Amino acid sequence: MRRRELGESSHKDDLAHRIKNDIKASPDLGLLRCVQCGMCASTCPASRHSNYDSRVVIKRVLDNDETILDDEDIWNCFYCYNCQSICPVGNSVCEVNQILRQMAIDKKEGKEKIESFISFADSYIDRGLGVIPQEYRGQLSIDYGKHWDNLQEHLDEIRDELKLESMYLYPEAEDEIDQTLKAIGFKKRVDEVKKVRKQKQLGDE
Ligand code: SF4
Ligand code: SF4
Repeated sequence: MRRRELGESSHKDDLAHRIKNDIKASPDLGLLRCVQCGMCASTCPASRHSNYDSRVVIKRVLDNDETILDDEDIWNCFYCYNCQSICPVGNSVCEVNQILRQMAIDKKEGKEKIESFISFADSYIDRGLGVIPQEYRGQLSIDYGKHWDNLQEHLDEIRDELKLESMYLYPEAEDEIDQTLKAIGFKKRVDEVKKVRKQKQLGDE
């Protein structure tokens, strides 16, 4: 693939233009104005802990390098927005990464990256709430200790004591969320991710 020089006119179907036109992109996202100054990389915590380089991510996008969608790099960003706050041309590597991840999720590889979080989606579908799934509780118990265990075990009593109302939704609200999740294709997408997880598990056996 021929490398595009920065600033050279590009096609509307290029990766950079698809990102600019994505529904998640801010209307004034300065992606095409990137001058490769590297200020974003200088403030990026992910680059301190890995080979990740936010400047390079943007360079590859502007070079229309679609292989970035299969790259580990886009999964190293913390979404801290430091890059956005320092960029002199109003670009946001954070926002670009979010859109790149979504594009990757639309492919099989990205679905594999998020399958371990699917329990959060299940709890949202079941109760309309993003509660902590059971499978993460063991590790959280190690991280937070006995106090956290005690809170989880006696949450309802503690809430009663504090005279707090139920944290769960009314059935009408649950129905409304259920219909909304169906209408926006959320449930279908969760099923697609589960299918990929199943294939992976069968492949591992
Ligand atoms: S700070 Fe902005 S202009 Fe500079 S390299 Fe990063 S994205 Fe590009
Ligand atoms: S949002 Fe991502 S790319 Fe931007 S500074 Fe934070 S970790 Fe780095």
